[in-house]
Amino acid sequence: MNGCFDLKNCRLCARRCGVDRYETNGFCHCGPRPMVATVCVHKGEEPVLSGSKGVCNVFFAHCNLQCVYCQNIDISQNNARVHCHCNSLEQVVDRIKEVLQNSENVLGFVSPSHFAHLIPTIVDMLHSQGLKPIVVYNTNAYDSVEVLRALEAYVDVYLPDFKYCSPLLSKRYSKAADYFQKASLAIKEMYRQKGSTLITTDDGIAQSGLIIRHLMLPGCTADSMDVLQWIAENLSTNVHISLMSQYFPLDKPLPDSLNRFLSDDEYNRVVDYFYNLGFHRGWIQDLDRQQSYKPDFGHKEAFER
Ligand code: SF4
Repeated sequence: MNGCFDLKNCRLCARRCGVDRYETNGFCHCGPRPMVATVCVHKGEEPVLSGSKGVCNVFFAHCNLQCVYCQNIDISQNNARVHCHCNSLEQVVDRIKEVLQNSENVLGFVSPSHFAHLIPTIVDMLHSQGLKPIVVYNTNAYDSVEVLRALEAYVDVYLPDFKYCSPLLSKRYSKAADYFQKASLAIKEMYRQKGSTLITTDDGIAQSGLIIRHLMLPGCTADSMDVLQWIAENLSTNVHISLMSQYFPLDKPLPDSLNRFLSDDEYNRVVDYFYNLGFHRGWIQDLDRQQSYKPDFGHKEAFER
């Protein structure tokens, strides 16, 4: 087993708790067993991933960040009991096989950082049964560089959400003051592996590459611009960017401006900056799509409604 996957001294994600997950809880409150909230087809990812049939997404329970505004709050909270449909690797693989056949043969691991050690085993089990999906690592980017290196042979498309530059924002909103420090290293490693070229199939489905997401938050326009500027200066303006406007305020008290939607002015300023920096590849969500991505994890097929 690769040393960076050792759960007895867990440093699986950038949080680097160093706990023995067989005995106690780290930040993510996850033991050694898989905790998969649901496996379902999701048609709301970027068109180059979703195609017409969608992605077979594996949604892990809990998270190594705890964003106050989390859009997947039903499954991401570490202090809540999340009902998991799959609790063993065999169950996970069986469910993936069932769902994958209704997708574009794209397998997405969503918020996988705290269960990254499972990915090689799951992919090997699928390969041994003749299934070769395109594997997407859909992450908040608070990842370990060592783990990403260990996943190099298993991940086809990296899909990190680059959330913040500001340590004040990342501490206040996601309990990770060092988010930028860690995420920027992780994304540099993803870029080292994949570069700027997004390779696609004849049908236009991504086969290999890097797509960097950024969720624009209300009241955080300057930080969104800083994130884009960092990518332009440290990676390339040829990288595929997915600029997301889908933020919706949860039905609970939230700090600062997070209790409202993104304004037209905020949206336009970030989009203008994106073009002014020279980015020219990727996707920009319209503002009027803000509600369309809200998942209902109580629904059996959370995104197929
Ligand atoms: S996966 Fe991350 S948050 Fe969870 S115990 Fe390991 S280092 Fe801590």
